[in-house]
Amino acid sequence: MKPHVLVCGGAGYIGSHMCKRLARAGLVPVTFDNLATGHRSAVQWGPLEIGDLLHPADLSAVFARYPLQAVLHFAARSLVGESAREPALYLRNNVTGTLNLLDAMRSAGVGKLVFSSTAAVYGNPLYTPIDEAHPAQPINPYGLSKWLAEQQIRAYCEAYGLRAVCLRYFNAAGADADGETGEAHEPETHLIPNIIRAALTPSLGPVKLFGNDYPTADGTCVRDYIHVEDLAQAHLLALDYMNGQAGFHVFNLGTGQGNSVAEVLAQCQALCAGAPASETQPRRPGDPATLVASATLARETLGWTPRHGLDSILRSALRWHQGSATAAACPPTADR
Ligand code: UDP
Repeated sequence: MKPHVLVCGGAGYIGSHMCKRLARAGLVPVTFDNLATGHRSAVQWGPLEIGDLLHPADLSAVFARYPLQAVLHFAARSLVGESAREPALYLRNNVTGTLNLLDAMRSAGVGKLVFSSTAAVYGNPLYTPIDEAHPAQPINPYGLSKWLAEQQIRAYCEAYGLRAVCLRYFNAAGADADGETGEAHEPETHLIPNIIRAALTPSLGPVKLFGNDYPTADGTCVRDYIHVEDLAQAHLLALDYMNGQAGFHVFNLGTGQGNSVAEVLAQCQALCAGAPASETQPRRPGDPATLVASATLARETLGWTPRHGLDSILRSALRWHQGSATAAACPPTADR
């Protein structure tokens, strides 16, 4: 029988991409998702179990039904602004939900976990590139919820022998090379999908650029955009790593290359015949000027090397938004 892996949040953007990779690697991805933000149509590579991390009975049922060897946990609320308005929602879903998952794993004797964490645990960077030794000082409830979830996982590793890898993503972006999975949030708050939507649908109006007075080279925020395919590869390596390593481990996932909001816009305009138009708005609360990863630890320990840069991210995302009909216009590239 093929090994089964539970993918909490497998109907979401990164989770669905992961399921495809797991299936390609010969594993059966069992998606556990409440479909609050995920899409039923994104679950194509294994069974879908609709359930909620806040309902322990849903979890026990899925652990009883499948011979699970490991868990990948993507299920979370992930919007910074929403988290500031509704911290209870974030703490309950992301912290209590993770605790329930840990208890279900413990009861079922499933001992390996890869957890989707975030650069938001670091808060305002004291230095860049940010390495894993940087203090965790989250400045919003989303970052706090992921930090608290990490600490719960650490405690379960220390006390109960769980093996866990927390992967702190910088800015996840891009889409599947075949155009099968991509980023589809409603409402959309992220830069790259917003730029592409505005480019493809001029009636949406100009894309909003939040702030041009940051202490960066061109005044706009700098981020480290990491392709979802590279993220998926890191998860496969993390699963493998836990076969030989006990305990709790944390790795940053980014390219180490920062791009400003203005650079992302210009590169997209170069791909889209000058579109979209843009308009500068005031700063968005809670945005640090620069977030760039040091991913040296992941490279040296997991053997992970990101293959895609911004051009590949933008082309794949553009293809996903355009649909397969125009895929040939923007062939995929791997620019590293
Ligand atoms: N941003 C922007 N316009 C948008 C969405 C985002 O100017 O429509 C900026 C945002 O202020 C930040 C950067 O783009 O500086 C990346 O934001 P995103 O929401 O994509 O990711 P985050 O860094 O918040 O995780």
